[in-house]
Amino acid sequence: MNHSTIVGGSTAKRVINCPGSVALVAKMPPKPSSKYADEGTLLHNVIAEIVMSGLPPEHYLGTKYEDQVLTQELIDNKLKPALAALDEIDPKQEMEIEAETSVNFGDLLPGVFGSTDLIGRIGNRAVVLDWKFGDGVAVEVEENMQLMFYAAAAMRTDAAKWAFEGVTEIEMVIVQPPAVKRWVTTPKRIAEFELQLVQAVKMSEKKTAPLRSGDHCRWCAAKPVCPQMTGAVERALQTTIDNLDPPTIATYLKNADMLEQWITDLRALALQLLESGAKLPDYKLVAKRAIRSWTDEDKAKVALFAFGLTESEVLETSVISPAKAEKALKKRKQALPDGLVVAISSGNTLASADDPRPEVMLLGKQLTVALSKLQ
Ligand code: SF4
Repeated sequence: MNHSTIVGGSTAKRVINCPGSVALVAKMPPKPSSKYADEGTLLHNVIAEIVMSGLPPEHYLGTKYEDQVLTQELIDNKLKPALAALDEIDPKQEMEIEAETSVNFGDLLPGVFGSTDLIGRIGNRAVVLDWKFGDGVAVEVEENMQLMFYAAAAMRTDAAKWAFEGVTEIEMVIVQPPAVKRWVTTPKRIAEFELQLVQAVKMSEKKTAPLRSGDHCRWCAAKPVCPQMTGAVERALQTTIDNLDPPTIATYLKNADMLEQWITDLRALALQLLESGAKLPDYKLVAKRAIRSWTDEDKAKVALFAFGLTESEVLETSVISPAKAEKALKKRKQALPDGLVVAISSGNTLASADDPRPEVMLLGKQLTVALSKLQ
């Protein structure tokens, strides 16, 4: 998906709180996509098709995006709860809807645009809905700047105005299965937000644009080099990324190692305290995501066969791993024969110079992009 390099829905909160981040983020090498991001894109693409076509989710089984494939598990765990949430919002199916609409601010903010997941209208109420398929951070809906951005941009976009003209209420909805969060606001609040956004974007164009840290830093791509993060505020404010030399990056990596250990230990301590009954302001214990398993495998097999599933559909078999095979053979005083096993690295990782593993030689696309940013 194409994103604005100035501000979009997902970056609105960061830019409003930290106008200086726009210039800093622009100097960072592009982040490669991840399995989770690709899975999210796949689910967004498919649900947009479902709501517009009315076809059942199973019709899209096997749909692909990059390496991600739509499975029955994704349909059951993500798409069906999300579609059920839509029924909850619009039980009589009277809402006019439009999925995946490109929205922008025209001449007011050139280069600022985004794409709404779903906009709708029921009577005098406009609806702006965002699907969140990640299991990570629970997203709050009240005063959510991503949704306010979409509402403000949609109100200025010819193709989306129909949902907003003459409305007295604007309902923001976040569907993050199994949660559905709703917040009703007004066109006046969206106009106030737009003013705030315009001021932040204008401020971001100045050399003196301030950097302000806060919870909006979580997804900021400039975090590794941000003066607010490295602590070297005075020195780094006079330093540009262009001048960030390799020895400085190496020093920051050492700090990162220390910080990672500090964070791990702090989290372990906090968990220990909460589990011992202590209270920590703003934190609580929650159960980890439940993993479904059969209460009785034999009964489950009987039930599934009774539904007509075949043996190959119900039973999974796979060969044990080379490590397990080696262990089993060792007990019989035998070794694995040559030529049966191949070892393939899943990718590269960072290591200090004294690590005993040999150095990987590569000059791939990412490295080229990264170096071009440093020159
Ligand atoms: S890490 Fe935080 S303070 Fe630094 S540029 Fe990003 S948003 Fe601003």
